[in-house]
Amino acid sequence: MKKKYDVVIVGSGLGGLVSAIILAKEGKSVCVLEKNNQFGGNLQTFVRDKTIFDTGIHYIGGLSEGENLHNYFSYIGIMEHLKLKKMDEDGYDVITFEGDANQYPHAQGYENFVQQLLNYFPDEEKVLREYCEKIVYACDSFPLYNLKSEGGYQNEVLSINAKALLDELTSNEKLKAVLAGSNFLYAGDDYRTPFYVHALSVNSYIQSSWRCLNGGSQITKQLIKQLKKYGGETYKHSEVVGFGYEDGKLVSAKTKNGNEYFGDLFISNIEPKTTLKLIGKDKFRKAYYDRIQSLEAIIAPFSIYI
Ligand SMILES: Cc1cc2nc3c(=O)[nH]c(=O)nc-3n(C[C@H](O)[C@H](O)[C@H](O)COP(=O)(O)OP(=O)(O)OC[C@H]3O[C@@H](n4cnc5c(N)ncnc54)[C@H](O)[C@@H]3O)c2cc1C
Repeated sequence: MKKKYDVVIVGSGLGGLVSAIILAKEGKSVCVLEKNNQFGGNLQTFVRDKTIFDTGIHYIGGLSEGENLHNYFSYIGIMEHLKLKKMDEDGYDVITFEGDANQYPHAQGYENFVQQLLNYFPDEEKVLREYCEKIVYACDSFPLYNLKSEGGYQNEVLSINAKALLDELTSNEKLKAVLAGSNFLYAGDDYRTPFYVHALSVNSYIQSSWRCLNGGSQITKQLIKQLKKYGGETYKHSEVVGFGYEDGKLVSAKTKNGNEYFGDLFISNIEPKTTLKLIGKDKFRKAYYDRIQSLEAIIAPFSIYI
């Protein structure tokens, strides 16, 4: 007899596992398929000489009580089980430049953020305060980010460019570079990155910054524990390589190892172009398929640990 789930999820990254727990908590039967040996995607860790190394997530923002990730992680039941360490309040990130001995800190707490940078930019208090206000305003335009169901996305916030906003705030090039100093977190590009992308990233770290003691894979471990509690199932070494159809309706996910997982709904937690290719060009309107395939490839990291 073939088993059927309410929802089959492709990919066990943070997005896939959190979706799975939310659905399982709501009473849905859920199954998560992962191609790798380790669950968690960018939460994976590795060990050399008894030292744990993170691959993706190294530090996390918004985990103090009342902040957004704290609320999310509490809802899915993992918050109290995580072993975390708060980073340096006066400089969770430090921005440095070649030929400049200063270490410019990004501090936790908005007032502290301003005060720590005033040590290096004593004449720029107005600019720093305005910058903080703009960040908070941009984040307030995203109701879901603040776990509110009401309110709208303000178009004016969506269209502001990050570099243009910094240029407008100040002509102090060093200060602009310091404020944009963590832009690799969101693959910042001076002409294309909107300010809200910058704001949503740095706001969470300014609120509070944390490291996972013994690596980020503890998050995966706790997520899977919670998922199992609600009856969810996870399968590793299960790369989805295609889908099955009945009367034109997608009914199953087929894995490389020859298994087939049936479901009413399917969630893809993998790259969108790949998802569409796996489903098949003929299953979409041509204009939609072509538009997604023409999206520029995202920046991929290649890390060397020395
Ligand atoms: C180098 C790096 C550093 C980062 N640092 C931080 C940080 O310090 N703090 C922070 O908050 N965020 C950080 N991030 C971002 C964060 O790690 C990611 O945003 C998040 O983990 C992504 O989760 P995801 O669920 O979207 O996808 P992923 O983690 O990419 O998960 C996708 C999963 O799908 C699986 N998969 C792919 N194809 C298939 C298939 N066909 N069948 C089955 N399974 C498949 C993959 O193996 C993977 O496990 C970092 C990211 C990178 C790359």
